[in-house]
Amino acid sequence: MIRPALSIVIPCYNEEACLDALHARVSAAARAAVGEDYEVVLVNDGSRDASWPVMQRLAAGDRHVVAINLSRNHGHQLALTAGLDLCAGDQILIIDADLQDPPELLSEMRRVMAAEEADVVYAVRRKREGETFFKKLTAAAFYRVLDRVTDTPIPLDTGDFRLMSRRALDALLALPEQARFVRGMVAWIGFRQVPLAYDRAERIAGESKYPLAKMIRFALDAVTGFSTAPLRFASHVGLWLTAASVLLVIYILGAFAMGHALPGWTSLMLVVVVLGAVQMFVLGMIGEYLGRLYVEAKRRPLYLVSDVAGEVKRHVTLGFRAEDVAPNTPSGPEPDAG
Ligand code: UDP
Ligand code: MG
Repeated sequence: MIRPALSIVIPCYNEEACLDALHARVSAAARAAVGEDYEVVLVNDGSRDASWPVMQRLAAGDRHVVAINLSRNHGHQLALTAGLDLCAGDQILIIDADLQDPPELLSEMRRVMAAEEADVVYAVRRKREGETFFKKLTAAAFYRVLDRVTDTPIPLDTGDFRLMSRRALDALLALPEQARFVRGMVAWIGFRQVPLAYDRAERIAGESKYPLAKMIRFALDAVTGFSTAPLRFASHVGLWLTAASVLLVIYILGAFAMGHALPGWTSLMLVVVVLGAVQMFVLGMIGEYLGRLYVEAKRRPLYLVSDVAGEVKRHVTLGFRAEDVAPNTPSGPEPDAG
């Protein structure tokens, strides 16, 4: 297999308006860093606009471009995984298609990686331009809550924009889970990881592909993937409620023994409503874990590839995920049982 010095992996969903500018800036940054020895891996995540034809055109006109068409929209993190599976470089840059993250940071990232002998250089957002107050607020809150509940220290205010070494990427790809929170998984693998601060720009065209529903799902994947604290929450609440109920029972029996009548619509409703809410909430939380467990148990492929344009350096099975191994290696006879 030919290994380019650098692979740039870009998941794209409805990014037709960004692709040309993206290609130009990413290619210039790659040339400045490694000369001609690079590949740009564009992953079309089931876009409904003309992203795929544009990618095909880019791949036809530039031998550095490899484009992969997924069979449908699999979501940002899985599209990214498809690109990472397929790329072949010694160093891998992950970047968004909307140029919110400047590709020009690549040279600085490589410098830091060499100087610090790091396996991962992750870009930390100092400023976020052109994003709504709501997005910034929810993002800031999300990273801080995540930091409180997870056992893996996941860097704050850090997206997927990062430079990785081949061994770090191979470690990442060895993690099999379906519910992928890539930035957390990278933090989990360890090795030496160093931050690099930058200012996040505005999207150059189009709008955010993360509506509220996707953001919530993303946040739940992150929390459930890296923490069991929400499950422990149930036992804590249960413990406090048990203590409270003992006091309440003593009070009720005492009042009964002293012959007080106990009118109680208000107090009764209070208990019913509070307990009902807490139970439903805890049940929902257990459901989030259980649902993910169920999905993992099915062991479906993470994504399906329908077309490829350009020269892919690793083996791809169309309709299945990319793997580095030969597709039809004859397997030996089944060993005898017993
Ligand atoms: N993206 C994707 N599949 C999706 C949603 C998003 O591949 O289902 C890509 C999108 O094209 C972009 C990146 O993920 O390259 C980040 O998305 P976006 O910029 O919309 O997110 P934001 O910066 O608003 O958080
Ligand atoms: Mg963006």
